[in-house]
Amino acid sequence: MTVPFLDLGAAYREIGAEIDAAIARVLRSGHYILGPEVEAFEAEWAAYCGATHCIGVGNGLDALTLSLRALDIGPDDEVIVPSHTFIATWLAVAAVGATPVPVEPDPVSCNLDPARVAQALTPRTRAILPVHLYGAPADLDPLLRIAREHGLALIEDAAQAHGAQYHGERIGAHGDLVCWSFYPGKNLGALGDAGGITTRKTALAERLRELRNYGSSVKYVHEHQGVNSRLDPLQAAVLRVKLQHLSAWNARREQIALRYASGLQDLELQLPQSLPGTRSSHHLYIVRTSQRDALQAALAEHGVQTLIHYPIPPYRQGAFSSLGCAAEAFPLADALSRSVLSLPMGPHLRDEQVERVIAALHDILQTTASAMP
Ligand SMILES: *Cc1c(COP(=O)(O)O)cnc(C)c1O
Repeated sequence: MTVPFLDLGAAYREIGAEIDAAIARVLRSGHYILGPEVEAFEAEWAAYCGATHCIGVGNGLDALTLSLRALDIGPDDEVIVPSHTFIATWLAVAAVGATPVPVEPDPVSCNLDPARVAQALTPRTRAILPVHLYGAPADLDPLLRIAREHGLALIEDAAQAHGAQYHGERIGAHGDLVCWSFYPGKNLGALGDAGGITTRKTALAERLRELRNYGSSVKYVHEHQGVNSRLDPLQAAVLRVKLQHLSAWNARREQIALRYASGLQDLELQLPQSLPGTRSSHHLYIVRTSQRDALQAALAEHGVQTLIHYPIPPYRQGAFSSLGCAAEAFPLADALSRSVLSLPMGPHLRDEQVERVIAALHDILQTTASAMP
């Protein structure tokens, strides 16, 4: 038996008939840009998240970039970003001409460390952009306090946090703007690119609706220099179907995470932890070990496919060489990029596959341990 990291076709095999019907409804409607299907998904996603508005856009990177633009963040401004994240978080800041200011993670949650954020502020700081990495919520209360005290915006990168909770409330309306990706592999994934922004701020929501649609709210009247980044109605229809299953799928992810936690507890592996009072969406199940590359290779030999999120921190990428960061400037990001390994995780992973992963890890790590002098 081989265990794939993620079987993207499994959701379609489970609910294909519902998806086919939703797609056919859009095809028959004659409405192929924005319109009722997009509006319905926006209302349903906002309600799920505890927000009042959702603006559907083309993808998660656009959700971040447009959010920064809606807040008039641009050249000469600084935005606090995690040193350890997917590069999109940083690219959005660079795309509006602002400077990403990396801050190291708290080693428990792997998310922005609020104490370090306070030290990184300058007179040019305009926003804090935490990421709920791997689905585990960042510590929002202290970040919100810092933002309020210094007049900064809080923009959340929630691309991995669909359904995650912070102190009993779903991620989606704590910060000023909350950015979503519905990339196929996310907990709520479309069948192509899709994204969105949720908020309780009506003026920002109106600005974003214009920005995603050529800066226009009335056809051929353009108040701003906007872009074309509209959520596709076909994807909106698919997302409406999948949203009906999100809570059940997240519950299955939680069950798998609990099984991994109990099955792996006696091994030489650092298991994921969430902050007290938070509930992860279990987007990824990350173990940490100093023997990461050897472990990944051994798991592959056992038929277990794993991935690394992420092998190179953004500050070491050619894309950000212009920032001129020193070579060892972010040792915690470096340490994470060298030690993290993502085990197979997804709502359609079967019990026997989970057991297979646990058995393979026991096999590999107990053999190595006994081989050591
Ligand atoms: C997936 C992801 C994004 C970008 O989403 P796209 O829809 O692919 O543009 C941004 N940030 C994080 C943390 C992500 O995981």
